[in-house]
This record gives sequence, C-alpha cells and structure tokens, in this order.
Amino acid sequence: MKVAKACKACFAITEEDKCPLCGGETSKDWQGYVVIVDHTKSEIAKRMNIDKNGKFALKVR
Ligand SMILES: [Zn+2]
Repeated sequence: MKVAKACKACFAITEEDKCPLCGGETSKDWQGYVVIVDHTKSEIAKRMNIDKNGKFALKVR
C-alpha cells in the first residue's frame, strides 16, 4: 500500500515524492484534509490560497 503524502508548498495530497501540481517536496507528516470541489466557490480554498480542485492537507510539517 502506498503512503499518502502532502505537498509542503501547495498542500496537495499525492503518493508521489514530488508534487504533481507544483513540483514541490512532499511530506508524510501531515494532518487532516479538505476536498475542494469548486475552488471558485470555496471559502476554505480562498483562505488557503488554493486555485485548483482536489484533496488538500490542512497541516503539513
Ligand atoms: Zn505542490
């Protein structure tokens, strides 16, 4: 089973060592996540500066 990781730069959740969205470093040490279905209407996306749809971690260390 693959371990889910989260990007330290844009918080995207992925199984890769490098973020497929921004190419940033990913970390296994993250907590909680949100699913952004429509980033243009999402308050959370606005607050977290997310401009894409998908799964994003709330905290990445
Ligand atoms: Zn990223």
